[in-house]
Amino acid sequence: MDPFLMAALDEARTGRAEGGIPIGSVLVYRGEIIGRGHNRRVQRGSPILHAEMDALENAGRRAAKVYRESVLYTTLSPCAMCSGAIVLYGIPRVIAGEKRSFVWEDKWLRSRRGFFPGGTGMQLGTCRPAGLRCVPRRPGPGSARQ
Ligand SMILES: [Zn+2]
Repeated sequence: MDPFLMAALDEARTGRAEGGIPIGSVLVYRGEIIGRGHNRRVQRGSPILHAEMDALENAGRRAAKVYRESVLYTTLSPCAMCSGAIVLYGIPRVIAGEKRSFVWEDKWLRSRRGFFPGGTGMQLGTCRPAGLRCVPRRPGPGSARQ
């Protein structure tokens, strides 16, 4: 498995160990992880701390060119909020552990003119060999989808 997707899975495991929703993400720039995070909605009582947002937050504020050369790995396909952040910062490539959960967002990302200049777009990794479900089995009460 891709080592960066493995790192995202490690984040998901950390989230699960904390009693949270097991979704992880890492932001990779030039072959190095510059931000990592996991869903902390339960832990922080937060409406916005999805794994991708946590990874972006933990990467800190970066120059625009850094985002434009980065790859975002996530164990669950990005929701509308995280897809918006991906477009806002111009992150050109997303690798998701699965991409069945947020199909419309995948199409929307692909529809952005010039957003995927290399034609790569969202790619599908797989979480199964790691023995961890990419999608939470039963989200807790009030946890919506992510
Ligand atoms: Zn999200």
